[in-house]
Amino acid sequence: MLGEMMGDSLTITSIMKFANRVFADTQIVSVTGENPRHRTTFGKAFARAGKLANALAKLGCAQGDRIATLAWNDYRHFELYYGISCAGFVCHTINPRLFAEQIIYIANHAEDQWLFVDPDFVPIVEQVQDQLTHVRGYILLCDEANMPQTSLVNAMCYEAIIADEPTEYDWPELDENSASSLCYTSGTTGNPKGVLYSHRSTVLHSMAANATVALSPDEVLLPVVPMFHVNAWGMVYSAAATGTKLVFPGPKMGDGETLSALINEEKVSFALGVPTVWLALVDYLDQSGSTVESLCKVLVGGAACPLSLMKAMDRYNVWMHVVWGMTEMSPLGTYNDLLPWMHELPEEEQYQYRLKAGRLIYGVEMRIVDETGNELAWDGKTSGRLLVRGPWVCKSYYKVKESDAHLPDGWFDTGDVATIDRYGYMQITDRTKDVIKSGGEWISSIDVENAAMGHPDVAEAAVIGVPHPKWTERPLLVVVKRPGSAPDKKDLLNFLIGKIAKWWIPEDCVFVEEIPHTATGKVSKKDLREQFSDYRY
Ligand code: AMP
Repeated sequence: MLGEMMGDSLTITSIMKFANRVFADTQIVSVTGENPRHRTTFGKAFARAGKLANALAKLGCAQGDRIATLAWNDYRHFELYYGISCAGFVCHTINPRLFAEQIIYIANHAEDQWLFVDPDFVPIVEQVQDQLTHVRGYILLCDEANMPQTSLVNAMCYEAIIADEPTEYDWPELDENSASSLCYTSGTTGNPKGVLYSHRSTVLHSMAANATVALSPDEVLLPVVPMFHVNAWGMVYSAAATGTKLVFPGPKMGDGETLSALINEEKVSFALGVPTVWLALVDYLDQSGSTVESLCKVLVGGAACPLSLMKAMDRYNVWMHVVWGMTEMSPLGTYNDLLPWMHELPEEEQYQYRLKAGRLIYGVEMRIVDETGNELAWDGKTSGRLLVRGPWVCKSYYKVKESDAHLPDGWFDTGDVATIDRYGYMQITDRTKDVIKSGGEWISSIDVENAAMGHPDVAEAAVIGVPHPKWTERPLLVVVKRPGSAPDKKDLLNFLIGKIAKWWIPEDCVFVEEIPHTATGKVSKKDLREQFSDYRY
């Protein structure tokens, strides 16, 4: 027997129409190249999304066309998110930090028709434009007064193309399963892979995220995670659905001073970003003596959160909630919040729970399995390959047949290795490709890195496995020193005693000027292993 309820489509258009009716006056504040504090509202931004949709129709875009963006977090990117997807096109966000060859591969693979480019990224696009096979023109995200000189063919000004268009647009009734947006993962091996989100997956993810993190018109949200990386963790949709004021940092993502000013001036209460940006904020606060009184809650994810960072944010009364997810998961999978009884634990024990990736959010299922696919216990000790499934988890990559997608029994293999404790708290111990196996036992490089990051002279730490005659592999600690410090390698290794298992303590520590990173800011263990391929114990 079927239920008797209405089957309205779950589309991003429904979020836009809802927010336009209920939260039209909610503010959007942006830092842009042209204006350090641009102010608009949801209502005005959606009106301009209508103008944009009319302009795209004039450019001859057809349903399903991929329209790409290379842009910072600001109000124009917000308009592109809604204008493109709600008009029935696919908003393809490209990470401008990718190598030129990857940008060429991605834009050609996606068959992008038009590229919306922030003036800051024009030099990158000029360099590759001859090799872009499907692009018909470039729209620069600025007004006419700020149009840069450019060799881009068929370059237009965003403000000029939307200026005379009407704000009304006959938004199509879209199938909820139609594609809404596209984001490529910058894997460290092989070509990037496209994750093609649907309207339905986006709306469901947004609802689940809202139920979990509790955005509301009382909150002010600062997404420091880029809109070119998994739709700023989906929060650009969640904010509209809940009427949460948005503060966009534009090109000033990693700038502690600007972040602190935005938080204090705009009364930001809620923020999200990877650990690196919070390290930059804490550094600035420590040096300047400033505070961030309004900021209560930060979602931190994308990489493990070091204990020292969580403690530093606690000093500023900011509670960090670790989240875990991935591009293929829209991205949220888990969220860390303590259970009531955990607040009564001694502080150091609380940190042990708080540092974990947290518990599942409703809608996602997960399991850990051994090498042959047998499910492992949730005992907090046994680690295994982490598999997930759910309505906002990708079932295949763009233009990859589902049958070639390597989904064991319909589960998505995250490539992460994790433990799950009896309360359901998951903890990432490694990436499958990065695990260190010493004498047949796994060492968690993440735990070793976090312990090393607790040393006051360590700016960044990474651990890789290197060949060892007796133990097959042993961990090597690679450290970037804090400017002005001169740590001794013996002291550093001794510092780890008591913080991690004795046999996990690296055999050696080497100091480097810089640790290689991927385009999404994660440590590139592959490059690091290459760098130390000749290293021998
Ligand atoms: P991406 O698809 O670029 O967002 O990267 C996803 C990957 O980032 C995951 O598979 C994890 O390896 C890593 N990651 C995300 N969140 C966390 C976290 N809280 N702790 C440790 N690693 C994380």
